Amino acid sequence: MRKLGIVAALVALLFTLASPADAQVKQVYWASSGFFGPFPINALIPSVPKEKQRDVTIPVSMWIIDHPKGLIVFDTGNNNAVSDGKCKSHWAAGNCDMLKPSQKREDVIDSQLKKVGYSADQVKAVITSHAHLDHIGNIKMFPKAVHVIQKKELYQAWWPEKFQRDGGVFVVGDFDGPARDFNYLELNGDYDLFGDGSVTVLSTPGHTLGHQSVRVKLASGKTMVMTQDAVWMQENMDGYPAGLNYSIKDYSDSITRLKMIRDLENAEMYYGHDQEQWKAGGGKWYK
Ligand SMILES: [Zn+2]
Repeated sequence: MRKLGIVAALVALLFTLASPADAQVKQVYWASSGFFGPFPINALIPSVPKEKQRDVTIPVSMWIIDHPKGLIVFDTGNNNAVSDGKCKSHWAAGNCDMLKPSQKREDVIDSQLKKVGYSADQVKAVITSHAHLDHIGNIKMFPKAVHVIQKKELYQAWWPEKFQRDGGVFVVGDFDGPARDFNYLELNGDYDLFGDGSVTVLSTPGHTLGHQSVRVKLASGKTMVMTQDAVWMQENMDGYPAGLNYSIKDYSDSITRLKMIRDLENAEMYYGHDQEQWKAGGGKWYK
């Protein structure tokens, strides 16, 4: 009897460990803050060889994550001011001319939330992958949310390295003023957002000093990793590094880490700016 009791306890424990309690995300929506392009791929990834060069029009990925404990937005795209052809009112002219953002007002994160049945006020946490202009653009639309970002990324946003200071990829207007007093969860590495393993912030530096990605475990059992700019697009996975990096060593280490997660956890990876991936799965719910 006693042995049976122990067996029953072990079986119960196994069920507890494997229960969907650690996979509570109901659904995830992939949105885009308009598009960049078209431009030659080697404008972004100079190492792409001639025979693989092509023109690309790329998404500016943002994610809406629906968890029972609260709604999450992962990246807020280009600032609203860039919408409807007004890029040069907010970004350096050179970035407008090169990136050619096509964002319309309805592409902005608050409109995207409305489109799928939510309001910006309902968002409990905003995770920002990094402080570049196409990822942190609209954090000011979420004054009541917890803002999840690596502490190092905040340092870098406010005082970029000299070699990155003049290009205008950090737009101080995106995170100054009221955003100074936001409720920041300042991270130093990975973080399990709801304490249940379902939404994990993964430290993936290199593209910037404090870049981070997100892993989501859906109730269905599917695991998704949203890399944002740790991996722009498939070419980076194929060994052609991005042309804009804080540290190429950290960038390569982060790609290796993400490939390990993909292979060991059987995860699906979604890149920040991949034309083909977006065509196949953008503007959709994942369950
Ligand atoms: Zn980007």
